[in-house]
Amino acid sequence: MSVNASTRHSILYKIANNGHVPFEGLQGQKPSQFGINTFNDRIMRERLPKDTYKKLQDTIRRGDKLDMSIANTVAHAMKEWAIGKGVTHFTHWFQPQTGLTAEKHDAFLEVDNGEMIERFKGDQLVQGEPDASSFPSGGARTTFEARGYTMWDPSSPAFIVEGPKGGILCIPSVFISYTGEALDKKTPLLRSMDAISRSALKVLQLFGNTAATRVITTIGTEQEYFLIDKAFYHMRPDLQVTGRTLLGAAPPKDQQLDDHYFGSIKERVLAFMQDAENELYKLGVPAKTRHNEVAPHQFEIAPIFAEANVGADRNQIIMEVLKKVANRHGLALLLHEKPFARINGSGKHNNWSISDSEGNNLLDPGKTPEQNLQFLIFLVATLRAVHQYGGLLRMSIASAGNDHRLGANEAPPAIISVFLGKRLSTILDDIKEGRKTKKVEDYIIDLGISKLPSILQDNTDRNRTSPFAFTGEKFEFRAIGSSASVSLSNTILSGAVADSLDIMTADLEKTMDEGHSIEEAALKILQKYIKETEPIRFEGNNYSEEWEKEAEKRGLPNIRKTGRALDFFIDQENMDMLMRQGIFRESEIFSRYNTKLEQYITALEIEAQTFCDMVKTKIMPAAFAYQKQLLDVIRGMNDMQGMLEAGASQTQQRILKAIVDQISALTDSCDKVEDVLHKGEAMDDLGAKAKLFADELAGLLDEARDPADQLEGIIADDLWPLPKYSEMLFVL
Ligand code: ADP
Ligand code: MG
Repeated sequence: MSVNASTRHSILYKIANNGHVPFEGLQGQKPSQFGINTFNDRIMRERLPKDTYKKLQDTIRRGDKLDMSIANTVAHAMKEWAIGKGVTHFTHWFQPQTGLTAEKHDAFLEVDNGEMIERFKGDQLVQGEPDASSFPSGGARTTFEARGYTMWDPSSPAFIVEGPKGGILCIPSVFISYTGEALDKKTPLLRSMDAISRSALKVLQLFGNTAATRVITTIGTEQEYFLIDKAFYHMRPDLQVTGRTLLGAAPPKDQQLDDHYFGSIKERVLAFMQDAENELYKLGVPAKTRHNEVAPHQFEIAPIFAEANVGADRNQIIMEVLKKVANRHGLALLLHEKPFARINGSGKHNNWSISDSEGNNLLDPGKTPEQNLQFLIFLVATLRAVHQYGGLLRMSIASAGNDHRLGANEAPPAIISVFLGKRLSTILDDIKEGRKTKKVEDYIIDLGISKLPSILQDNTDRNRTSPFAFTGEKFEFRAIGSSASVSLSNTILSGAVADSLDIMTADLEKTMDEGHSIEEAALKILQKYIKETEPIRFEGNNYSEEWEKEAEKRGLPNIRKTGRALDFFIDQENMDMLMRQGIFRESEIFSRYNTKLEQYITALEIEAQTFCDMVKTKIMPAAFAYQKQLLDVIRGMNDMQGMLEAGASQTQQRILKAIVDQISALTDSCDKVEDVLHKGEAMDDLGAKAKLFADELAGLLDEARDPADQLEGIIADDLWPLPKYSEMLFVL
């Protein structure tokens, strides 16, 4: 009867004795390993004819169209390089709307005159045709028109994934339909990068900067995750199926002591991190920072930033490599936004900036007043983007998992606001009021028309509670979920900033046509948009209740549940902006909207079913077993009545009563959960069903666990069938 519990205890025993990784002496990082499994610039220069190399570089660096005449040469060089490294297969590596990456392996084999040879042709490099019918499309395609193409994205380097019996050459690609519709997450991201480049160049030109030929979006993603022993993971159907614990009592000690944050890293974890980083280095991912996070067994890894599409690819690679290497170390890596209730969840901080092709960061205040004015235009355009399209940004981070984290104690609420820091805020306020900024020696320069700030770079004040913070040279969008692809958020953000830049540029040009200098015009325009965007700026504590009230007064949306937040996607003004910027076609928006609805609904359905299943097949039997033990004790005591005082078994009866009460509460909550599931079954309208789940099912699932968690605190430990929080979060 207590097979499960004894299994649990034997696992604990095993981890305690074997969990450590044998220390093999200092091995150190070999810097020469960096990028050895990527078809990078150095390899291209070595292996490609000069003119081919140059043409490919023009495509990569300047965003020129790929010259198809070089495809065969590049493919051949890539194949030779890969085969030399033990590669047998290639795949186009792309990002369908699942949020994961997809691959379909093909061998280099071909039959030539009846003989098998290894060949990789230009058209195979450039284009692939996986069967697209089984990828989510949100109704964009029916099965009979399921043709989808993958196309090589030369701006992200091809890489080799080492397999146990041979490597796989992965070719980063976009995924589009027969009619040119984007089926993936990368195509819109690339389009948004084009949009911002186009719009930002116009601003640069107005400021007399003619050297730049392109503006580049850069991102750096800080990734949080949990690690637990794999044995625990496999004993928890909820973790395996849904990524989070659907029940589990809080441990007596959790994170109250803040003793995990930046603490020294356990050797078993360090060994994992070092192995994972080695793998990432080989793949050209510059993992730079690692540390313990706030919650027990929670960690973070951050690479050096890169161009947005490369950075997004790398974040996918990071998530995959972390999972794979953890598995090798007998660990399970949890990417869910809230694996453990009442314990901090995990997010992904998305650092975002733009720089010109000359290498100048456009969100860097700069040294001269002119540079500062230009900086302020980009800064205020970003404010305008967040103010105008905060709903879209909220939508871009919406998922069933992230709903548990936003607005809890560890993450910003669903209200999107911007933190700028004191100095920048003062400067904006002064411009708004037409006030001459007070003389603070080193950051004021008299331009003659107004006092203009020379903004120092070290923006040192920080506000960890803000969802969108200026952190000097970049904005940090902190509300993305830990398991999410960063593509959509960056697509929306860049698109919205591009749109704001267009609108501000038109204003600037008009004002200059009226006879004003660029400086005068810029100040006027800044004044207008600083005023307009004031409601989005917030420097206080985003976690506080006062802020929720204040935000409501300011008219900022606070949509807590994905089932409702997704509607921002199909809001007409939002769609108009996305289409105006050439980022999505209308049909692409609806297909994504529907896909997201489906994903949300399915996630909740699976959670609800898993929960009820676990209650019925694991929790109830344990509760009945303990109930029986107690009954035996009580009966036995009653039999001894002559010897014991009357009512001697009162304590036992009280415990029994508590169990009976919790069992019936748990049965009720499962019934309620199942009722909503049934109601949902009859609904065809995805939008309505998502709203029903958002309004009823999500909350029910949060409450339903309570009786189960109470039972965990009553039932004998050796009857409890599931690893407990106190084990999963403290035993490694
Ligand atoms: P924090 O103190 O917030 O952790 P870090 O300096 O560690 O900040 O940077 C966090 C991330 O921001 C890193 O991935 C880093 O490469 C990235 N980052 C730095 N500069 C830029 C930039 N200009 N554009 C995009 N990301 C950047
Ligand atoms: Mg940071």
